[in-house]
Amino acid sequence: MNKLSGKTALVTGSSRGIGRATAIGLAREGALVAVHYARNGQAAQETVEFIEKVGGRAFTVHAELGVPGDIDQLFSGLEAGLQEHTGQTTLDILVNNAGETLPTGAAPEEVSAEQFDRLYAVNAKAPFFIAQRALGLIPDGGRIINISSGLTRVANPSQTVYSMTKGAIEQLTLHLARHLAPREINVNTVIPGITDNGNTIFKIPEVREQMSQLSAFKRIGEPDEVADAIVFLATDEARWITGAALDASGGSLLG
Ligand code: NAP
Repeated sequence: MNKLSGKTALVTGSSRGIGRATAIGLAREGALVAVHYARNGQAAQETVEFIEKVGGRAFTVHAELGVPGDIDQLFSGLEAGLQEHTGQTTLDILVNNAGETLPTGAAPEEVSAEQFDRLYAVNAKAPFFIAQRALGLIPDGGRIINISSGLTRVANPSQTVYSMTKGAIEQLTLHLARHLAPREINVNTVIPGITDNGNTIFKIPEVREQMSQLSAFKRIGEPDEVADAIVFLATDEARWITGAALDASGGSLLG
């Protein structure tokens, strides 16, 4: 425990799901965590309260990504929170986790230009510009962890555009890793498989059973199982890993 004591972290989209579990995991290791959210201020506040209850430190940051001014809003909240809690604005760990999908999916023939632009704005453009802006705050030896999806490895036509955006974030990892290696900033991707984020779909027994069959372990992943992989990449134990994509999908579609 306390492998990250004295460190600071931003986890985008940490009001719920994998992001929330990651914020809790990083805070358990001693990091001060900025819990970012878009719409669910209450859930973000609950994440902070949970972290504080177990002895950690965190604060909320609000910014809807994918709209004009998003990066400015995110960083003004982040820097104010860091300043208040640490007296400076150093950010050691960035986790680009926030993401959206088309809730019910859509065949390629049915995707509108607006839907396409929105998914790219939130899932690909925002992480790029968050990383770009964060570079002014991340010291040598820092970490960037981008969250992709198992759908970059297997075809699912109803999620074509979502999967394209996740391909983009894996490319971001590859090229940033090389670019930032002289500063010993490690950049990696984590690839979750189907993970129970509390969405109502996970409450339907038949759907659950079907989804479970995709994992080699024949069950659905829990957010903390993905978060543990993310937290590992943030620790010193992962110092020799950069430009990598770590599969945290419970062996989905291993064959
Ligand atoms: P989730 O439960 O749906 O939560 C999404 C989080 O992102 C929330 O905190 C949400 O904030 C935030 N967010 C969404 N759109 C945003 C926007 N436009 N601006 C700012 N914040 C936004 O997510 P999850 O299922 O844990 O997924 C986390 C990451 O893992 C995503 O990148 C996702 O693509 C990836 N992933 C998930 C699965 C899975 O099965 N769950 C599988 C593969 C990959 P609010 O609460 O304020 O809305």
